[in-house]
Amino acid sequence: MTSDEKGELWMPGKDWRAELIAAVQPENYRYDEPMSRHTSFRIGGPADLMIEVETPDELARTVEYCRKSGIFWFLLGRGTNLLVKDEGIRGVVLKLGREFSRISVEGKKIRVGAAVSLAKVAEQAARNGLAGLEFASGIPGSVGGAVFMNAGAYGREMQDVVSAVHLYRPGKGFSIYRREKLGFSYRSSRLQTEEAICLEVVLELAAGEEAQIRQEMGELNSRRREKQPMEYPSAGSVFKRPPGDFAGRLIEEAGLKGKQVGQAQVAPKHAGFIINLGGAAAQDVLDLMALVREEVHRKSGVWLEPEIRVLGDD
Ligand SMILES: Cc1cc2nc3c(=O)[nH]c(=O)nc-3n(C[C@H](O)[C@H](O)[C@H](O)COP(=O)(O)OP(=O)(O)OC[C@H]3O[C@@H](n4cnc5c(N)ncnc54)[C@H](O)[C@@H]3O)c2cc1C
Repeated sequence: MTSDEKGELWMPGKDWRAELIAAVQPENYRYDEPMSRHTSFRIGGPADLMIEVETPDELARTVEYCRKSGIFWFLLGRGTNLLVKDEGIRGVVLKLGREFSRISVEGKKIRVGAAVSLAKVAEQAARNGLAGLEFASGIPGSVGGAVFMNAGAYGREMQDVVSAVHLYRPGKGFSIYRREKLGFSYRSSRLQTEEAICLEVVLELAAGEEAQIRQEMGELNSRRREKQPMEYPSAGSVFKRPPGDFAGRLIEEAGLKGKQVGQAQVAPKHAGFIINLGGAAAQDVLDLMALVREEVHRKSGVWLEPEIRVLGDD
């Protein structure tokens, strides 16, 4: 949902925030929360209200209140694939809390809450001699965000390991979708078209040797440190891979490595990344993205499509 889709009942004058937080513990909400504190880019203006929901029922109640009142809402994971605009978000940002942070291992399956980090679940898989998640151990997002994005690296994606997902579908209630129903494709899943919220995931892994799994995780993570500008805030690859090519290669070929707008820069270490040199505005990143798209199109005829999700008011 975009902020342009706010319903007719949207009434900025009304104190909808007080109504929404009436049943929320004081430590679980904040007014005017800067999103720069919650994104790996360290960029983003304030959200009117941020609530950490503790249970599926609290999540459902909050989302349905927003839907019925025409209040914009957004589910935040670990904020590693997001650019929030400088004016922030007129509406509610929801974050999954305690009940969404559990992990349990049942044979070759791991049942994991959507708020758990990929690094943590990959570590748990390794400790239990379960192979298949090595590719994900260095992706900095949450399990829920990774399913939503069908995150992937080194030739593997979430769709290779997800067996089923417990979802909340706004207006429709709770459901379980098996892998076949999740509509996975490159950096996409059915969650994106249905606005479905991932609550819990069942991963199906293979039996392996802990030492070998740890060795592979270590090798992939050193490759990441070598190639990616991890010393700067970013949101990972800004653009999707165009068919048969790499966005970074096309950007480099267009002579844009190191190109800077304000404090946003095409990373000298990896042209697929835009980094925040310190105090970059969202507008700097948006202007740099527009410049990169134009220039790459001019040089190679390809229009790059953003992988990162842009959110917020102008
Ligand atoms: C240094 C760096 C390296 C990266 N490397 C990779 C990589 O190798 N491969 C890759 O694929 N990505 C990579 N990324 C991008 C990012 O980590 C992934 O896209 C990740 O899956 C996003 O998860 P998140 O929890 O941070 O989601 P967020 O950024 O918080 O949100 C992204 C989208 O997911 C939705 N979402 C989040 N949680 C849920 C949920 N529980 N239910 C429904 N929707 C949800 C949000 O609403 C939003 O639309 C990298 C990012 C960085 C900063």
